[in-house]
Amino acid sequence: MENKTKQKLVMKGHVILQSEDLLEYILATSVFPREPQPLKDLREATAKHPFAFLGTSPDAGQLMAMILKLMNAKKTIEIGVFTGYSLLLTALSLPDDGQITAIDPDRKAYEIGLPFIKKAAVEHKINFIESQALPVLDDLTQDLKNEGSFDFAFVDADKNNYWSYHERLLKLVKVGGVIVYDNSLWGGNVAAPEEAIPEKKRASTKTTIEFNSFVAADSRVEISHASVGDGMLICRRIS
Ligand code: SAH
Ligand code: CA
Repeated sequence: MENKTKQKLVMKGHVILQSEDLLEYILATSVFPREPQPLKDLREATAKHPFAFLGTSPDAGQLMAMILKLMNAKKTIEIGVFTGYSLLLTALSLPDDGQITAIDPDRKAYEIGLPFIKKAAVEHKINFIESQALPVLDDLTQDLKNEGSFDFAFVDADKNNYWSYHERLLKLVKVGGVIVYDNSLWGGNVAAPEEAIPEKKRASTKTTIEFNSFVAADSRVEISHASVGDGMLICRRIS
């Protein structure tokens, strides 16, 4: 029964996932030769951090930079900064008067990336707020002038709160603006049988599956579920 369902959904030749060689090829051919030097330097400085794997994957980052430039984004919000890979790539993608509100309770991690942000001369675009995201989003939504004032949001933080972030971001991001949720494929676990998922990842996998389904059914956004990095759920606000 299960196989039958799969045959209906998957067409031969559409399956490019789960091949490290293919990702190596993409990285070596299209990503690393084009990665801006400040991002490379920040990535290398982050490599020593025990949680280096949290940094946005460079191929996903390249897609994000492309989206930001295609839409001429000027004012963005980021939830989950860590050492700042996605933050620096956003800052490099915005015009000189661009503004990023970047929220993370972990200032120590941000300070690892900060010298590279300074060296790239984009610090003036960044307003780093050392805090949990929810109270900051609540403050922003209190002020009516912030409604629909953001072009773009990147959400890469505590997955349990994504529902709350989504509701607030749908007020803050303009109609036609974009919200990107990171790690939407959760290491592939979203499609794995329960017994194949490490026990400590089962709850977070369930959260991710539920959030993906919730967004897929949300008529306020158009979506593209991109299989780059650890999965990026790209939403365009339409109402
Ligand atoms: N985008 C980053 C990776 C973020 S990792 C990069 O490209 O490197 C996830 C981050 O979310 C961590 O730094 C963690 O401190 C932060 N985080 C966790 N809970 C949070 C919350 N409630 N609000 C804001 N940030 C949070
Ligand atoms: Ca991430």
